[in-house]
Amino acid sequence: MNEDKGNPSATSAPLDFIRRIVADDLRTGKWGGRVVTRFPPEPNGYLHIGHAKSICLNFGIAEQFGGVCHLRFDDTNPTKEEEEYVNAIIEDVRWLGFDWGEHLYFASDYFQQMYDYAEQLIRAGKAYVCDLSSEEVRLSRGTLTEPGRESPYRNRSVEENLDLFRRMKAGEFPDGSRTLRAKIDMASPNLNLRDPVMYRILHAEHHRTGAAWCIYPMYDWAHGLEDSIERVTHSICTLEFEDHRPLYDWFLDALGVYHPRQIEFARLNLSYTVMSKRRLLQLVREGYVSGWDDPRMPTLSGLRRRGYTPESIRNFCYSLGVAKDDGVVDVARLEHSVRDDLNRRAPRVLAVLRPLKLVVENYPESQVEEMDAINNPEDPGAGTRKVPFSRELYIERDDFREHPPKGYFRLSPGREVRLRYGYFVTCTDVVKDGGGEVVEVRCTYDPASRGGNSPDGRKVKGTIHWVSARHAVPAEVRLYEHLFTRPDPDDVPEGEDWTSNLNANSLEVVAAYVEPGLARAKAGERFQFERLGYFCVDPDSKPGAMVFNRTVSLKDTWAKVEKKR
Ligand code: ATP
Ligand code: MG
Repeated sequence: MNEDKGNPSATSAPLDFIRRIVADDLRTGKWGGRVVTRFPPEPNGYLHIGHAKSICLNFGIAEQFGGVCHLRFDDTNPTKEEEEYVNAIIEDVRWLGFDWGEHLYFASDYFQQMYDYAEQLIRAGKAYVCDLSSEEVRLSRGTLTEPGRESPYRNRSVEENLDLFRRMKAGEFPDGSRTLRAKIDMASPNLNLRDPVMYRILHAEHHRTGAAWCIYPMYDWAHGLEDSIERVTHSICTLEFEDHRPLYDWFLDALGVYHPRQIEFARLNLSYTVMSKRRLLQLVREGYVSGWDDPRMPTLSGLRRRGYTPESIRNFCYSLGVAKDDGVVDVARLEHSVRDDLNRRAPRVLAVLRPLKLVVENYPESQVEEMDAINNPEDPGAGTRKVPFSRELYIERDDFREHPPKGYFRLSPGREVRLRYGYFVTCTDVVKDGGGEVVEVRCTYDPASRGGNSPDGRKVKGTIHWVSARHAVPAEVRLYEHLFTRPDPDDVPEGEDWTSNLNANSLEVVAAYVEPGLARAKAGERFQFERLGYFCVDPDSKPGAMVFNRTVSLKDTWAKVEKKR
């Protein structure tokens, strides 16, 4: 793996509270010197940037302390889970740069063992079959201020419970007619301990176990068992599970089995972003985006397609630290991290997004010169390349103003500018269409300024980019804005929902021209288009029909914030 900035294993950064716990446990020998973490996605959607934080934390800790991190699919809910998601998750974790070795697990592989543990709890008088409907269970749970009501089925005999539970498993009862519940305490101040449901009846095919099961374990029951079976040492999860920890502990203690330690940390929230899989699925299903990998999505596959590097995402995640308080991270920080990474590695090229013809009147019609251009000023080893210059060029429409406002130093009538790596040119005239719009700019060049160097020390205030019209490669370029118009997508007027904050301008497609060297660039290759940002070749791209995504513009609002501090 490349060195990551801020990766605690690569630096002497102070340990966060979870790493301190792990380090202390190693010192005291609590787990016999073992460190075993896990990343446990439910395969009901694609991974997003929030998951990346959890992946970097779990795999990062294992890496730092010489342990292992398991990739475990928490596939206990057959109706929402699919093979497609399993494969996408595997691809995404690999792409992020992590390796679970032989430790790939599926909760569904433990269904029999979980079932056996459930019978053990029944025999111990700690679980019972309940005939209340899910609605009745909900209504009898009580509130934070009132205790719940005990189920009339709570005191069934062990024999009756075993018999009914076996028949639930055998498929004798319809969906929802019975559950297995833990017998804990209906008056517990923690609602999670008020006889939680462990199993429900669900006659649904599972993507891995097929029709073998018609009862499925609930999350709280299953998750601790999965951790225990895999002999995880530190079970790291997000804060919303803090209130579930007593239940996690209760189940494992009641069974008297190996008992990992659950530790909670704050989940990642990003401005201008929705992060829940349910909402991301809605964006996909309802066609607000082109798919899970739409470059506007906060999914890892979307960020990859957008042009994000795995290093930039890891560095972003490490830079967040690990804390106990939920907050919203400015999405500009994520953008900053990819800019920072691509600045070092992306070759610079010339491209024009909104072309305006520029004719160099005194340049010979048939002449072409190969100009030297620097590939990456940040990386002297990257060398130079040739770009063709000719009489007819395209420049950015924005780089010309017939009536320049004050402080505008680019091209305008009578004004001289530098064409990057080209020549000094002076605007002499414009050509307009019937509607009065400028469709062509005419200019003359100073042959003594070859390479864009001043012949006599005279200064020009503007330098603009260009491509040779005859040599340029047409390309579709997709420009993105945030998917939402407000930092908090939930900030909506009464009666509306978060989808009303979707940004109608989040995608703009322009017909651009890029320098000829990009004609055969491959999907996933990344470039800096000078002055315009970082761009990545989209998988839709083919020779003759190039497609680029803008990863991020060059303006770094976050870097400015950081400098001011
Ligand atoms: P979502 O809320 O987006 O649907 P989830 O929690 O249901 O996500 P899981 O597949 O259960 O998704 O998550 C796998 C792991 O990733 C869990 O350990 C979970 O805590 C962690 N995780 C999920 N979202 C975030 C987030 N925003 N920040 C940090 N960790 C997260
Ligand atoms: Mg979850």
